[in-house]
Amino acid sequence: MRSDSGETVDGTGTSGGREAGTAVVAGAGVGGLATAIGLRRAGWTVTVLERRAAPERYGTAFGIHPTAQTALDRLGLGDALRAHAVPYRDARIRRPDGTVLAALPLERIERRAGRPELLISRPHLIDALLAEFDRLGGPRIAYGRPLSDPGALDADLVVGADGINSTVRTTYFGGRSGPRPIGTVAWIGIAGFESGPYGETWGEGRSFGMTPVEPGRTNWYATLPAAATAREVRDAFADWHDPIPRVLAETDPATWIRYEMRHLHPALPRFVADGRVALVGDAAHAMTPNLGQGACTALLDAEALTRAVAAGGPQGLPGALRTYDAERRRSAQRVAFGSRSLHRFMTARRPALRDALLRMLPG
Ligand SMILES: Cc1cc2nc3c(=O)[nH]c(=O)nc-3n(C[C@H](O)[C@H](O)[C@H](O)COP(=O)(O)OP(=O)(O)OC[C@H]3O[C@@H](n4cnc5c(N)ncnc54)[C@H](O)[C@@H]3O)c2cc1C
Repeated sequence: MRSDSGETVDGTGTSGGREAGTAVVAGAGVGGLATAIGLRRAGWTVTVLERRAAPERYGTAFGIHPTAQTALDRLGLGDALRAHAVPYRDARIRRPDGTVLAALPLERIERRAGRPELLISRPHLIDALLAEFDRLGGPRIAYGRPLSDPGALDADLVVGADGINSTVRTTYFGGRSGPRPIGTVAWIGIAGFESGPYGETWGEGRSFGMTPVEPGRTNWYATLPAAATAREVRDAFADWHDPIPRVLAETDPATWIRYEMRHLHPALPRFVADGRVALVGDAAHAMTPNLGQGACTALLDAEALTRAVAAGGPQGLPGALRTYDAERRRSAQRVAFGSRSLHRFMTARRPALRDALLRMLPG
C-alpha cells in the first residue's frame, strides 16, 4: 500500500519502505512503551528490555493533559485512550473542614485546549500501549531482562526509559543527579464508589486528593510526612471533611500503594549522549506527583523523540537527538520545578498564609 506522500506504508501503520535503524529501549513503563511504538511506526526494529518478569498491571490513575492527548493521537493511541478515560471537571481545593479555597484550573485548561483533562487508570493505559506495540509486529518485549551495560549494545539508538533509578542515566551521566527524597510519603488507592466532590484538600503538611477514574470508582491519594501503617493514615485524616474518612475506610488496605516521594536532583545538563543515547520520562526528569504530570511528560518525550528520529533516520541520529533535547529538556524541567514548588506551597508551615493566597486566585 502507498500513502499520499508516495511513502510505502504497510498494514500495521509503519513506514516499511524507508531504511530505518535498530533501537534498544530499556524499560516497559509508559515512557518506554510509547517510545517503542513511535519507533516501530517509523520502521525501526525495536527491542524492549524490561527488568520485571511480567507486565505490572498495578497502579491507580494518570491525569492526561490535552498536550499529552495530542501526543497519544500522533502515536495512534488517541482512540484507545478515549475508550477508557473520563473527563476531569469541577474540582476544588478545600480546607480539612470542607471550606472551598479555590478551583483547580481545569476549566481554564479545557477552554484553552478545546478538550478536557482526562483521567485513565494505569492498567488501561499500559494495556493500550502493549496492544498497540503488539499490533505493530516485530520482536516481543524481553521481560526479566534488566539492562546492565548500555555501552555494550550495538544498536543504532539506545533509549533509557528505565525510571528514576535509571541505569542508562548513571552510565552516561554518572551519579551526580539522582533520586532525592522530599520528606513526604504518598499513599494511593481506588475506592469502590464515586466520592462526589473531587479535588484536593490541603491541611498542615498533609493533603488528600480524589478524582474520578471509572464509573463507580474513585481514585485517591494521600500525602503526609510519614505513616507506617494504613491505620495511621486513616487516623491522620479521621477528622477531615466527608467523604475522606469513608474513602479510606472503604478501600481495602491490601490494595493501597505506598511510595516515598522523590525527584531527580540536580536537573540533568542534557537528555542525550554520545549521538546515540536518549533518556525519556522519569529517567530524564523524575518529578514529584503534585502537578500530576509524570505520565504526560513521559508521553511528550516519547512522541518528540520518535518524531525527531523518524525525520532524521539512522544517519541523522545525532542531529535528531539534539532536536529532541532542545524541544523537551527545558520544558520538562520547568514542569518538574513547578511540581516541586507546588509541593512546598502545599506543605507550607503557615497554612493560613497559603490559604489566603489561594483565595485570591480567580475561581
Ligand atoms: C508498577 C508501577 C506502578 C505505578 N503506579 C503509578 C500510579 O498509580 N500513579 C502514578 O501517578 N504513577 C505511577 N507510577 C509511576 C509512573 O508510571 C511514572 O512516574 C510515569 O509514568 C513515567 O513513566 P516512565 O516510563 O518514565 O517510568 P516508570 O513507570 O518508572 O517505568 C520504568 C520501567 O523501567 C523498568 N526498569 C528499571 N530499570 C531497568 C533496567 N535496568 N532494565 C530494564 N528495565 C528497567 C521498570 O521496571 C519499569 O517498568 C507507577 C510506576 C510503576 C513502574
